[in-house]
Amino acid sequence: MIETKQDILDILNMPEEAFARDVLPNAQRAREAQFGNRILLSAMIGYTNVCKNQCLYCGMRAGNSALKRFRIAPEDVIALGTNAAAHGYKRIFLIAGEDPKYGFDGLLEIVRAFKDAGMFVSLACGEFERARYEALKAAGADEYVLKFEMSDPESFNRMNPSTTFARRMEAIETIRALGLMLASGNIIDWPGQTVSELADDILLMKRLGISWAPVIPYLPALNTPLFETHHRGRLELLYKEIAILRLIMPEIRITAQQPGADLKKGLADPEANDAAIRAGANLLFYDLLPDPLAADFRVIDERHITGPKHAEALSERFGYEIDTNI
Ligand code: SF4
Repeated sequence: MIETKQDILDILNMPEEAFARDVLPNAQRAREAQFGNRILLSAMIGYTNVCKNQCLYCGMRAGNSALKRFRIAPEDVIALGTNAAAHGYKRIFLIAGEDPKYGFDGLLEIVRAFKDAGMFVSLACGEFERARYEALKAAGADEYVLKFEMSDPESFNRMNPSTTFARRMEAIETIRALGLMLASGNIIDWPGQTVSELADDILLMKRLGISWAPVIPYLPALNTPLFETHHRGRLELLYKEIAILRLIMPEIRITAQQPGADLKKGLADPEANDAAIRAGANLLFYDLLPDPLAADFRVIDERHITGPKHAEALSERFGYEIDTNI
């Protein structure tokens, strides 16, 4: 049983062999008990890569002038998403930078169209006032993704200079209070993070009662202040966090689209995705953006576009059953 911070720390500090022997098989069994052999494939679309914020770790930060920016008009977003719905996709994830010039009415129109198409709608468009979350819920949004990134307020304020930890947590609590499902999580092994802080991040996800853990290890992104000076987050800690999350919250979705040892393969490395699934993860994405735009939607450098072919290849190679509506 994992109940206390010390229990979490014991796993995070465990030698890798002991983790592989004593914890990993339990996490795999927990995923299988909940979902069988099924892995969820959700459609996703990054509809604007414009962002007014300056998060120190993010390739889409406003200060990255090397990135080509785009906005996709609501009618085009709707066409891409409803086409996916017509092909059997039951879930869609709308993701964006914090783009004040992307009309909010257009966003509501998109949500309504996807709801009408029978989809489960998740959104990650940043911090809003309460009235906007209310409007999104009324339009049919099911889930809102707002990561706390790091549970230590001082570190958060340093790494996310365009907002504050207090503001982020207030928005997160508003989302919960409105009855939207909350997806939230951390960056694993971000520059300077201690194992104790990582354990606190995991405890915060548990306390928040999240529906999906959109977690990822820290990956250095070009043209960001941390690029030159800090190494990528450790895979060992990624797998340990995924396994702990699966064991303490068996029913949640956990992102399986994870990097492996070779960052050039991005998030589309089959072995790396399989390793995350074996640790307890269960969620892959079908990127609906046309290729040239998808390459510019990059919070990290080597995201790589994935779709049904990637999921099918994983399925053939490792025997998973791909499901578009878990
Ligand atoms: S993490 Fe999100 S809010 Fe921060 S700079 Fe990147 S896209 Fe903008």
